[in-house]
Amino acid sequence: MKKIYTLAIDTSCDDTSVAVLCNDRVLANIVSSQIDIHKGWGGVVPNLAKRAHQEMIDSCVDLALKRSGLKDIKKINVIAVTYGPGLAPALEVGVSKAQELALKNNIPLVAVNHMEGHALSVFLKNKVGKNYAKLPSDINKTKFPLLALLVSGGHTELVLVEDFGKYKIIGQTLDDAAGEAFDKIGRMLGLGYPAGAVIARFAEKGNRNAYKLPRPMEHSKNYDFSFSGLKTACLYQTNDLKKELGEKGFAKIIPDYCASVEEAIVDSLIGKTVKAIKEYKPKMLVLGGGVVVNKRLRAKLRKALKALNIPIYFPDKQFCQDNAAMIGLAGYLKFLRGEIVKDIPLLQRKPSLGIEDDN
Ligand code: AMP
Ligand code: ZN
Repeated sequence: MKKIYTLAIDTSCDDTSVAVLCNDRVLANIVSSQIDIHKGWGGVVPNLAKRAHQEMIDSCVDLALKRSGLKDIKKINVIAVTYGPGLAPALEVGVSKAQELALKNNIPLVAVNHMEGHALSVFLKNKVGKNYAKLPSDINKTKFPLLALLVSGGHTELVLVEDFGKYKIIGQTLDDAAGEAFDKIGRMLGLGYPAGAVIARFAEKGNRNAYKLPRPMEHSKNYDFSFSGLKTACLYQTNDLKKELGEKGFAKIIPDYCASVEEAIVDSLIGKTVKAIKEYKPKMLVLGGGVVVNKRLRAKLRKALKALNIPIYFPDKQFCQDNAAMIGLAGYLKFLRGEIVKDIPLLQRKPSLGIEDDN
């Protein structure tokens, strides 16, 4: 098979990431996290993100090329860049760097949807061709349709993958994303930002049935999600509990509360996923997004899908968080389909791009 070298860039949110791939193999994946910059603000501040991307992007490109062993950008066959969805000021940095590199070095450019990257992250292989997610067959032998459950700080979507590049959203959140729910409830509990991993750590020591919390839309006939009702229920309940127990007493129940919150979010995700699997009968379920590192979600989903006899694949932890490797893979497949940017200077970031928009 011909070797295609892809240089990929993702600056959609608060990670500056650059990767180099050879076909579907990751040769280098550099991620410069901005968490420390945004922590104190309780969320990502777009203009601070932009400045940090601008400061880091060149050194990330250099380091990715160096670590890949290619060293020289002239060996790259295609440049892939995230053009949406994401924060406009952040996306702009990656898009303009990709345009600059493509034009200067006369390399074709491919524009990638960030959510397509998450959907395909289980297909990534390491340098020596071993699939990180332990998929049994090669990417070109993939049987369709697949169902992808994408769960991040900004998105919660069930996507039917009819082929690479052919996506249909069958369910999505009507309000907050699941990661956002973890983060907002975490803030109420005084756990800092982002709170998903902290809630998960406390939850390991807590009783999942200690507090009764709603599973919004559990019985609705569609595959959509909603987490704002859970957030509101938590707000009222934590205010009452703080009054009743005092700050010290409230601190003692944090593990039980976190366990109950995690269970409510996980149950909501699994309920709709199982329902969609029964209806669409996909060949497998693949996952993507930052929330997908959650151990309880992984364990409960595995159990639920075993009963349905459907294989399930999770990305390696490093590819759940935002990363350019997944953009490189989606970009490589797009390049093989001939979907390159025709007029490079005219490519614009699309902050609200949907996964169905560039089918
Ligand atoms: P992303 O938007 O894909 O970068 O993912 C970030 C989101 O994942 C944030 O909302 C985090 O709170 C959430 N997150 C990270 N680790 C965990 C975890 N272990 N359990 C649940 N959510 C998590
Ligand atoms: Zn993401």
